[in-house]
Amino acid sequence: MNIESLVRRNIRELVPYSTARDECGLESGIFLDANESPFNNGFNRYPDPAQLKLKQIYSLVTGIPSENLFAGNGSDEAIDLLIRVFCEPGADNIVTISPTYGMYRTAAAVNDIKCTEVPLEADFSLNPQKLLKACAAETKIIFLCSPNNPTGNLLNKDSVETVIRNFRGIVVVDEAYIDFSGDGGFAGKVNTFPNLVVLRTLSKAWGMAGLRVGFAIASAPLVSFLSKVKYPYNVNTLSQEKAVSLLKRGNRSQLDTVIFERERVASELKLVSDVVEVFPSDANFLLVRFKDSKEVFRRLLNSGIIVRDRTSAEGCRGALRISIGTGSENTLLLDRIKGTCAGNALSLLCRQRSTAETMISVKIDPGGNLVNEISTGIPFFNHMLEQIPVHGGFSLQLWASGDLENGAHHTIEDVAIVVGEALSELVASVPGNNRYGFSLPMDESSASVLIDTGGRAYLKWEADFPAEYVEGIESDMFRHFFDTLSRSMKATIHVKAGGTNAHHVAEAIFKAFARALRTALSSSGDDTKIQSSKGVL
Ligand code: PMP
Repeated sequence: MNIESLVRRNIRELVPYSTARDECGLESGIFLDANESPFNNGFNRYPDPAQLKLKQIYSLVTGIPSENLFAGNGSDEAIDLLIRVFCEPGADNIVTISPTYGMYRTAAAVNDIKCTEVPLEADFSLNPQKLLKACAAETKIIFLCSPNNPTGNLLNKDSVETVIRNFRGIVVVDEAYIDFSGDGGFAGKVNTFPNLVVLRTLSKAWGMAGLRVGFAIASAPLVSFLSKVKYPYNVNTLSQEKAVSLLKRGNRSQLDTVIFERERVASELKLVSDVVEVFPSDANFLLVRFKDSKEVFRRLLNSGIIVRDRTSAEGCRGALRISIGTGSENTLLLDRIKGTCAGNALSLLCRQRSTAETMISVKIDPGGNLVNEISTGIPFFNHMLEQIPVHGGFSLQLWASGDLENGAHHTIEDVAIVVGEALSELVASVPGNNRYGFSLPMDESSASVLIDTGGRAYLKWEADFPAEYVEGIESDMFRHFFDTLSRSMKATIHVKAGGTNAHHVAEAIFKAFARALRTALSSSGDDTKIQSSKGVL
C-alpha cells in the first residue's frame, strides 16, 4: 500500500517549518541563531525538536526502533495530527467503535471531519466485518482502541488484523492501556503493515499524565508526515528531561501493584449486592454496572471519591468507570460502595516532592479513615514512620522512591521535608488546637518529646544512642530527620532519650513525638485561633 497517496495533497507538498537548530546540526557552540536569551536559567534554549534522547530511552525500554517513533504533546496530539495529515476537511470521514475514547470524534469535529461510530457487540467485542462495512470511499482512518476505554477489554487480535489487512486506509490502534494487559500489542507490526499506526502514552502506566508525552508508532515514512505537520517544539524541555529520567527508573512494581489491585477490587465488587456486573478489564480501570449507579455515584462523591459516570455511553447503561488507586484508596472505595463506612467527606492533605534524588508523595487523612501505608524502601525507617499516624491519631500514606544506591540520607531527609510540610498543614487545619504537646517515657528505653506547633522551628536534641547504627541507619540520621522536620513543620521540638537498646531508643522517640503531636493537635475548646502570649496566631 502506498501511504503517500493517502496523504492530503497540501501536506504532501508542504515544505515544513525548519527550526534554527534543524539547520545548524551542532549540539554545542555559541548559539546566536534563534533569538533566544543568552542567560542560562536551564530553559533559555528551545527544546530538541526531534526529541532524540526521549526517543532513544523509550526505544531502549520498549524495543521499538527510534525511527518508528513520533513523540507528541500527549497521544492526543497524534490523534489530531493523523486526522490533519489524512483527512480533507468537509469531505472525508473517520470510522470508530462505540463506546470508545471520545477524542477521536472531538478531534474529527474540530477538523470538520465526520465520524461514524460502529457499536461493539453486547460483550464489547469487535465485529470486523460490521466495521469494514461501515467504511465508505471517503473513510480515511479507522480508530480502534485496545484495551478499549471505557470498557477495559482488549480487542481480539485476529479481528484487529482483519481490519488492518482489509481496509485501504489508515488503521490506528490506540494502546494507551496496553501495559496493564500483559499483551505486547501491535507495535511490532508497524513495519509489516504500512497502514498501521499504534498509539502509546506515558500518561497511564508510566504515571506522567502531567508531562503530556505520548507516541505514535508507525513505519518511518508515515512518522515523517506527522513530524512535518507538528509544531516545531511540541514537547517542552521540562517534559523531555523529566520523561527521560522517569523512564530510566522503570515502572514494574507500580504496574504489578495496579494489576494486583484491579483483580482484588474486581473480585470484591462481584460480591456486592448493588453490583450487577464487573466487566473484565485489561486496563487500569474497571467498568462496573450498578443497580442504581446514580445513587452510588452520589454516595461516592459525598465521600470525596470521584469516579466517571459512563451511563450514557453505548451499551454502558448503569455503568461507572472506576480507576484503580492505591491499596488503601481502593479499600476505602470498596467500603463506601458496600456502605460499611460512615459517610464523612474525606479531606485529605496531600503533598508531593520530586527531585533528581527522590520522589515523595504524602497523604494525611485527619479523620483517620485511610489504612496507613508507608513505603520508603528502608524497612526500619518505615517502621519508625508508622508510629507517627498510629500514635498521632490520624492516617498517613507515604510513598518514597529515592536513590538508595547512594545510601539512605537523601530519602530520610526528603521524607522529613514532605512529612513536616504535611504536618504543618495538619496543625493549621485544627482551629483552637492545644499548640503544645509533651510526652513521657515509653518502652524500656525512655524518650520524652516536647513540641510547640506555634510556628517557630527549633530542634533541641539530647538523645543518647548506645550504638552508632540502628538497623543499618546511622543513629545521627534520626537527629537529622527531626532537625529537618522541625524546620519544614515550623515547630519547636525537644527530644530527650536514652536506653540500652538502640532500636528501642529510636522507636521510643518516634512514639513520643507522635503522642506529643496528638496532644498538640487536639482541640482545647471553642477557640478558633491558636493561643499565644502575644495574642492569637
Ligand atoms: N487514548 C486513550 C484510549 C485514552 O484513554 C487517553 C486518555 N484518557 C488518551 C489516549 C490520551 O492520552 P494522552 O494523555 O497521552 O494524551
